[in-house]
Amino acid sequence: MRAWLIGGGVAAVLVTAWFWLPQPGDAVRHARPAPGFVVREVAVFDGERLQPDTDVVVNDGRVVAVGHGLQAPAGLAEIDGRGRTLLPGLIDAHVHTFGNGLFDALNFGVTTVLDMFTDPAVVRELKPAREAFAPSSHADLYSAGSLATAPGGHGTEFGLPVPTLSMPSEASAWVDARIAEGSDWIKIVYEPPGSDGLTMPFASLNRATLTALIQAAHRSSRLAVVHVTRSEPARQALSAGADGLVHVYADDAQDDGLAELAAAKHAFVTPTLSVLRAFAGESAGPDLAADPELAPYLSPEQRATLVPAVWRRMDPVLARTFHADRPMVAVGRLNRCGVDLLAGTDAPNPGTAQGVSLHGELELLVRAGLTPMQALAAATSVPARRFSLQDRGHIRPGSRADLVLVRGDPTTDIRATRAIVAIWKNGAPVERRRYASTGQ
Ligand SMILES: [Zn+2]
Repeated sequence: MRAWLIGGGVAAVLVTAWFWLPQPGDAVRHARPAPGFVVREVAVFDGERLQPDTDVVVNDGRVVAVGHGLQAPAGLAEIDGRGRTLLPGLIDAHVHTFGNGLFDALNFGVTTVLDMFTDPAVVRELKPAREAFAPSSHADLYSAGSLATAPGGHGTEFGLPVPTLSMPSEASAWVDARIAEGSDWIKIVYEPPGSDGLTMPFASLNRATLTALIQAAHRSSRLAVVHVTRSEPARQALSAGADGLVHVYADDAQDDGLAELAAAKHAFVTPTLSVLRAFAGESAGPDLAADPELAPYLSPEQRATLVPAVWRRMDPVLARTFHADRPMVAVGRLNRCGVDLLAGTDAPNPGTAQGVSLHGELELLVRAGLTPMQALAAATSVPARRFSLQDRGHIRPGSRADLVLVRGDPTTDIRATRAIVAIWKNGAPVERRRYASTGQ
């Protein structure tokens, strides 16, 4: 049993993947921002609400003005926005960065990713690019770096060296070491045996160590986010002061005030319906791979994780844990309780792929009860606020000009996010890569 949240697909590419990652060399760092432009008479989803019939002026890599009938500086290119909607560049709040992930993300309008476990050396190497305004062919990376897990715990099975811990007394030094490595926040895996007898096929940190890690992260002013998949550990993580859960609970023990607890604790939840439903045998992957708006832009590697050839060899314990519908019900309850929800896919786990799966996640969030506007906020302003990303997630003067222009109105039909007309990263147009169809 190797494929389980950060799965076999990742393990397969891990060995050969590192050299594909972008290397922000001097040429990129010192390149000038792209020339400015103005989008005319476009519907703007600004991260929170819709502003119809608006002009947006971009210069030097930033949005410089948003309004009606704007005078733009002479010489700026004019883009017709009629019948179209301009969105902030999308943010995927749960990915794992391997191989071509950051390129694939941007190819589908995901301009920033929040990575929940990758090689800390990659994080250090790529961090400077997210501050730059040079044209880029890759999404920007924020990351937990390594994750907190027990010896033999989830996260240790992929061949990447993981510094484990087992006692509360180790927590402070562990957190200090991650911060020294460049982690932007602290990610903790918590899968203790359940009182219902349900035991995951991994060792887990104990509750005291979970609590000590959260406290150590907070002493260093870092967010502490927790991987859980079941209700009881979710309750314990929230009670211990977790800032967020990076999966929604997917078991059948359901709620009992859990959504209310998350609201009372001001915690956020990144449901990752894409991966949870894939593990329950209801993957959105085949639908995404068949969509004519998306299919031409899928690389062979993305297809391989989105629609895996080998599938549903599920451990019986996991089959009892993952349900297709329970996480949808949980998301509906959390939303009604006013809990911040973040759109995240857990790509490139089996059933998901970077970039493309965020469009599927948005649709799933709407099916779970969010309005299309709330779903769009879950992939823009809400993750920006919860992760303190100052210059993204919105379209307003001063924002980094990470933008996606789509046909139609995704605030009424969420699937319109797939009808991408143009993508800009740091104000520069992104040349989307198309792939030859994989011959039927
Ligand atoms: Zn993950």
